[in-house]
Amino acid sequence: MSLFLDLHTHKTKQERDVFAIQSISLTESTFLAMPKTKPIAIGIHPWYAKLEELTKNMKYLRVLARQENVKMIGECGLDSLRGEPIENQLQILEAQLVLAEELQKPLILHCVKTFDELIALKKRLQPTVPMVIHGFNKKQEMAQQLVNQGFYLSFGDAVLKSEEVALTLEKLDHPFFLETDDATINIKEVYAKVATIKKITVDELKDVIFANWKKMGLL
Ligand SMILES: [Zn+2]
Repeated sequence: MSLFLDLHTHKTKQERDVFAIQSISLTESTFLAMPKTKPIAIGIHPWYAKLEELTKNMKYLRVLARQENVKMIGECGLDSLRGEPIENQLQILEAQLVLAEELQKPLILHCVKTFDELIALKKRLQPTVPMVIHGFNKKQEMAQQLVNQGFYLSFGDAVLKSEEVALTLEKLDHPFFLETDDATINIKEVYAKVATIKKITVDELKDVIFANWKKMGLL
């Protein structure tokens, strides 16, 4: 039987039947004590990213991201409500996207009110690695627009809280992922809810999501 996959979490502790990818921000002072075996993602989060530190941070990231347990690059991305001006955030994201492509590792993306900029960046650079937008909580129309552009979507606690997001997921006919992020929920609750939305069993959902993950070549 497949494991539960928690594609994006900030919690360090994990259950045995969950394959969780812990996201670590490079600018945290803890980054030198990086886990060596458990699955992680590492990147420069837009909230903490500073353009003046980009060269230095990319030097570190370039080394750390090669580690075998680094499954994804990120979370990185764009946020119009926090962090540096979008032009700076775009440069910081582009550097990480180029690295992800070089290492052939997928990107886990944070995107707040900047979908147009993100789509434009993807069109310009045309990366071959999967780009997953985490914490997706928008309407069906936006979801469709993003998957049409080749993005993957990952859903978290919004599915439990919002009927609208549940409807987006119900209508979505494209591989997706589930996550807990920094919410105090268990990934199994998210699976249970999504299984109901999709009218399948939890075991079937586990298989579907695990197959999506394998398709990315990461197990
Ligand atoms: Zn996160």
